[in-house]
Amino acid sequence: VSAVEAAQAHLDRIAAVDGAVHAFLHVNPEVTLAQAAEVDRKRAAGEQLGALAGVPIAVKDVLVTKDMPATSGSKILEGYVSPFDATPVALAKAAGLVPLGKTNMDEFAMGSSTEHSAYGPTHNPWDLDRIPGGSGGGSAAAVAAYEAPLAFGSDTGGSIRQPAHVTGTVGVKPTYGAVSRYGSIALASSLDQVGPVSRTVLDAALLQDVIAGHDPNDSTSLNESWPSMAEAVRGADLTGLKIGVIRELDGDGFQAGVRQRYREALDLLASNGAEIVEVSAPNFQYSIAAYYLIMPAEASSNLAKFDSVRFGLRQAPAGGGTVEQVMAATREAGFGPEVKRRVILGTYALSAGYYDAYYGSAQKVRTLVQQDFANAFEQVDVLVSPTAPTTAFKLGEKLDDPMAMYLNDIATIPANLAGVPGMSLPIGLAPEDGLPVGIQFLAPARQDARLYNVGGALE
Ligand code: GLN
Repeated sequence: VSAVEAAQAHLDRIAAVDGAVHAFLHVNPEVTLAQAAEVDRKRAAGEQLGALAGVPIAVKDVLVTKDMPATSGSKILEGYVSPFDATPVALAKAAGLVPLGKTNMDEFAMGSSTEHSAYGPTHNPWDLDRIPGGSGGGSAAAVAAYEAPLAFGSDTGGSIRQPAHVTGTVGVKPTYGAVSRYGSIALASSLDQVGPVSRTVLDAALLQDVIAGHDPNDSTSLNESWPSMAEAVRGADLTGLKIGVIRELDGDGFQAGVRQRYREALDLLASNGAEIVEVSAPNFQYSIAAYYLIMPAEASSNLAKFDSVRFGLRQAPAGGGTVEQVMAATREAGFGPEVKRRVILGTYALSAGYYDAYYGSAQKVRTLVQQDFANAFEQVDVLVSPTAPTTAFKLGEKLDDPMAMYLNDIATIPANLAGVPGMSLPIGLAPEDGLPVGIQFLAPARQDARLYNVGGALE
């Protein structure tokens, strides 16, 4: 098929099902088809194109784009169009991928269900009454509903992996710094990482090969020459690989059907030559507490730029007002309740007199979590756990209970605190509800290829 045909088929699918799924915030068929036509023209002219040339891709609205708006799921950025493409988008376009549109997300990537989007929730294609995960529920739902074969996500505490788990898709959070954060609207800069959402491990690998690499525009970008992840998938071999089952991420609080599929997947890994051992990560239990200080602290600082002057919305109080009043009115009108909750929490945690007690303690816990990983990776090559404790819950079920929502990320957050790469891939449906279950693999920093090796072997 030509790039135009592939793009048109997916645009047709979006037109047919997105009224019910609501994975997309923005689609512009004209722009998409023009870019696809350009790829076809290059191919006809005999230009050497990469493996993904002509493949359509959905883009999480956290990434800025110069030919589409970028709202990060917030009213405060409604209609905002960036003068440049985020680096991962620019690299994808240069490789001939064709952006289909922008996908829905929790406002500023804060959430696990997309219910915190200012533009209404996305529905899980497996059951429209259920959440597609979050914050990148739009990207995962688009891939699961065949609206896109591939998508971009971003993962600060699980926002690529948990949506993959609940929608039966593959999601990868690369090593922190592997993929540029330039043009990714920041939630928490020390935790954020952009990565692929796909239907197969090989597709994710091909996309990671396109987007990983050093970017002088991101000071935390790694200067690393990455091996091909696609090669790791194609040569997948589990023989002699040591896989560590994380004792603390299994048991109480994990749904029976999630555990059942998880056990079966571990058996499958063992029968394919892997050695399964149990390892302990005693400090993982403090990860959520530390994360909910570090993430809001960084978010409150990152969101300070939405001041009514530089970007997006400006809301003046009736009759005018001072600069401060305009700023306050804009943030009052432009931010949703979850964003306000985290800005207040983060500002408090960073305030003089409290900084050491809250932010300082959280940073110490972060170091302990990193040590847990270091100890574990002295014993094993990769770690494994269920991606999340339960299958997709009902829309509305946890909306009024932030703690219940936060606990969903128990298995995904440690990787962000340590900067290590993680992958979620589907391992079947939970018998009790018929909903998808994912398994998570974690590897040492810079060893992303190990994830693709294991994932490739399981697929
Ligand atoms: N669900 C987590 C949160 O609410 C993670 C979000 C993310 O990874 N962007 O912060």
